[in-house]
Amino acid sequence: MRPMRMILVGPPGAGKGTQAARLIETYKIPHISSGDMLRAAVKEGTELGIAADGFMKAGRLVPDDVVIGMILERVAKPDAAKGFMLDGFPRTQPQAQALDDAMTRAGFDLDAVVLLEVPDQLLEERAVGRRTDPVTGKIYHLKYNPPPAEIADRLQHRKDDTIEAVTTRVQKYHSETAPIVPFYMAKGILKRVDGVGDPDEVTKRITSVLNS
Ligand code: ADP
Repeated sequence: MRPMRMILVGPPGAGKGTQAARLIETYKIPHISSGDMLRAAVKEGTELGIAADGFMKAGRLVPDDVVIGMILERVAKPDAAKGFMLDGFPRTQPQAQALDDAMTRAGFDLDAVVLLEVPDQLLEERAVGRRTDPVTGKIYHLKYNPPPAEIADRLQHRKDDTIEAVTTRVQKYHSETAPIVPFYMAKGILKRVDGVGDPDEVTKRITSVLNS
């Protein structure tokens, strides 16, 4: 299989986490979540991790160049030689541009940016019903993907998964993140995928656009 270096984008609740878990099995590539990676770099005590920790402890956002530096460090590891799936970054057009410049300098090329499209009304319902299992990391939905009864007690509901908070996050997505779509379209690597329907069906749509 040829390398698959991809980014998964879409509004909050579109199903990025759900699809990422499936795609990494299919393509045997690591899932690089910018949030998880920041926490890991801090724990490992890398130079960038120490820098990031300083910003986080001060309650400030970690600057783009620090996050991008971490992404480049991460994609240079041997398990990413066959590709990777980046999730959670970029979130703004300047971040997309900066990531692109940095990847070009490092000799990486993105193969695909998959945009999961889901109407706003559905996003609220998906996020409000979302539950995660802290033990396995699995993502459930009370209605669409009900968790087994025996793990019900340990499931977690994100504090920002209320209607109000989701509405704010969705608006922020439209104003700040959606502008990255024309950027990747102009590069010819944007793949739009309908994110409405059974998760298996959505996975099939993604693999079919990636293989075409
Ligand atoms: P994101 O990572 O984009 O924020 P998640 O993968 O966490 O989204 O999905 C949000 C919620 O919607 C979860 O509860 C998940 O179980 C549910 N979900 C994901 N994909 C689908 C789908 N195709 N149909 C119905 N519900 C879904």
